[in-house]
Amino acid sequence: MSEALRIHHWVPFSRSNGPGCRAVVWVQGCTLGCPGCYNPGTHSRKGGYSVLPEFLARQFLRLSGKIEGVTISGGEPLQQMKPLLSLLFLLRNWSNFSLIVFTGYTWSEIGWMGQSRRLLSLVDVVIAGRYERRQRLARSLQGSANKTFHFLTRRYQPADFQKIPEAEIIITSEGEVVSTGIDPVFIRD
Ligand code: SF4
Repeated sequence: MSEALRIHHWVPFSRSNGPGCRAVVWVQGCTLGCPGCYNPGTHSRKGGYSVLPEFLARQFLRLSGKIEGVTISGGEPLQQMKPLLSLLFLLRNWSNFSLIVFTGYTWSEIGWMGQSRRLLSLVDVVIAGRYERRQRLARSLQGSANKTFHFLTRRYQPADFQKIPEAEIIITSEGEVVSTGIDPVFIRD
């Protein structure tokens, strides 16, 4: 059985986390500590819950025909490389979904990681680099100006990321109100 992925949350339908309508999963756990991170609730590895990549992949497959792809965000996906690769492998082989990964690691740091070649063979776009508060952009899916886009297949081009909404508010089937996107709206309890 494969290793479980610790996740914070996932939503089936989002329009502010990549081109088209996409499922999004935010993994749980990040030690990079960018000042001004908008999602500190994802930092602790004790938060969230564990899910098997196979289970998560099946949830996404049930959305076939309704979504264009899956975005994996965080937290820090690359700090759970093994289950991340399992999930990406299943999605790549079971579906035609486009796959986008956000990471706080820089492109050169990724290159030094043991499994980087495999990772990059499974995704369409990687958006890389720490969030730098002093270079904040918060548009076109670019949190700060230092973040870099890496197009690993021909599926997307930079223009596909230009008109993505900065924020959206989603009301889940359980009635929970969630704001997502590169500049999410702050929702009071
Ligand atoms: S890498 Fe992402 S989740 Fe981690 S601290 Fe930086 S902005 Fe926050």
